[in-house]
Amino acid sequence: MKVLTAVSDVRAFRASREGSLGLVPTMGALHAGHLSLVARARRENVNVAASIFVNPAQFGPAEDFAAYPRALDADLGLLASLGVDAVWAPSPGDVYPPGFQTWITVDDVSAPLEGARRPGHFRGVATVVAKLLNVFQPARAYFGQKDAQQVAVIRRMVQDLSIPVDIVVCPTAREKDGLALSSRNAYLGPDERRAAPVLHRALEAARAAFDSGERDAGRLRAILTETLAGEPLVREDYVSVADASTLAELERVEGAALASLAARLGKTRLIDNVVLGGT
Ligand code: AMP
Repeated sequence: MKVLTAVSDVRAFRASREGSLGLVPTMGALHAGHLSLVARARRENVNVAASIFVNPAQFGPAEDFAAYPRALDADLGLLASLGVDAVWAPSPGDVYPPGFQTWITVDDVSAPLEGARRPGHFRGVATVVAKLLNVFQPARAYFGQKDAQQVAVIRRMVQDLSIPVDIVVCPTAREKDGLALSSRNAYLGPDERRAAPVLHRALEAARAAFDSGERDAGRLRAILTETLAGEPLVREDYVSVADASTLAELERVEGAALASLAARLGKTRLIDNVVLGGT
């Protein structure tokens, strides 16, 4: 497995390989969720690459960029064991060389939910993903449903800019108690860890109501809020039942909807979602 830092080395890797390339972008501190994306990329492509880059541009000034877990050696071992061909582990200067001033903003779909609470987050995400896609030129790029708004932003960008790549979305990997795997779960203290599955329980309660015929989105949002409120260590940030592709809040669920939420447990902020209806 090649471990690369300079853009020119990534391009040389790509040029040296025949056949399809699957790319898995990550910020490292890899867990079974990331590895499920890598395994799927391995099955579907001749060549597989991953990137490990804690992207400063997608963190706000009061966010956890400095504290974000970093585990490069362990990550490289895991990726090698899954048969990854190349890993791009750049430093910020490789991605944002001196004089860098070109940013991608995806307007409406970036605005609500995570975008409203994390100004500039999706500008950082869209820009780094565009750069990754340009540098690697993969046939397919793999993303997790866990970050549903990120997927909506990237899909929109790829469509709007006619970027020749298939975006493949993989299901959210969870702990046995339903907690979505996240590198940020490492921040949770023991009591917070015990409380954290309420995020998933809230989404499952909304799904159960939906499956029993509830189509009033306000009522579904109320179920999310009420379930979160049952756990004193958890503070709701937002709950949402929105159109799955535009992320506009719904009054009634008719097509595919995204039920999503964000909550704080102490200093840790977690997100999760489920899709209601649709395919
Ligand atoms: P991150 O390192 O958090 O930027 O995540 C890298 C990729 O892994 C993103 O496409 C995430 O959506 C995806 N991912 C993160 N957590 C999970 C999970 N629990 N299940 C599936 N994919 C995930």
